[in-house]
Amino acid sequence: MRKQIVAGNWKMNNDAAQTEALIASLKSQEKTTNAEVMIAPTSVNLSQAVKATEGSGIEVVAQNMHFAENGAYTGEISASMLKSIGVNTVILGHSERREYFNETDEMLAKKVDAALANNMRVIFCFGEELADRKAGNEETVVGNQIKNALFHLGADAFESIVLAYEPVWAIGTGETASPEQAQDMHAFIRKTLNDKYGAAVADSVSVLYGGSVKPANAQEIFSKPDVDGGLIGGASLKADDFFAIVNAF
Ligand code: PEP
Repeated sequence: MRKQIVAGNWKMNNDAAQTEALIASLKSQEKTTNAEVMIAPTSVNLSQAVKATEGSGIEVVAQNMHFAENGAYTGEISASMLKSIGVNTVILGHSERREYFNETDEMLAKKVDAALANNMRVIFCFGEELADRKAGNEETVVGNQIKNALFHLGADAFESIVLAYEPVWAIGTGETASPEQAQDMHAFIRKTLNDKYGAAVADSVSVLYGGSVKPANAQEIFSKPDVDGGLIGGASLKADDFFAIVNAF
């Protein structure tokens, strides 16, 4: 059975006091589904967030990490540093990391390896830009992003990988992929996995959708057979909205 997951990517929002307050509101929400709930605060607040969520069933995950174990990489954090404060999952390949911080497929492959070597779970993000979709190239782009960063892995590694399809044109824009567009791409992603690794892997990997998911559209998107949940940006900053999405399955 694939896991249903709703993960909130807080991006560069919420200072220490705001992190404490939002976690307190999240803990007061009622959860009516079996979905796994994750939040990704900014790195300086991860340790505090791990402590504040203890026993709540909310997992704290990182937004990024470096591929090296340690060394001369000013400003970076490693997988083992995250693990040492109780963070066991990391988001890798978000389109903002690719666009503003020049993260390439090659770099992401190394980050994925480093996370897995440290027994971390990876939420691996990818998605086409608007120009790709307009040119009808969305499947080629998405297929290559997956192949280039993940297809050096053995089948077992996919037990620790969650995929997140996030069309760049739908992130933070208010424009959502239609449920049919999301389903079509998720089915293509599963077919891509099936072609390389077979049905056991393709059917067991959770594939999340991300891009302007809100309480008003979550239910329809999550009702699609190949959509296993969402990676949520803006709407994860309000506890009511976030839990309305968590409860939308
Ligand atoms: C994201 O950044 O992963 C995201 C999906 O953002 P938003 O929900 O704000 O579009």
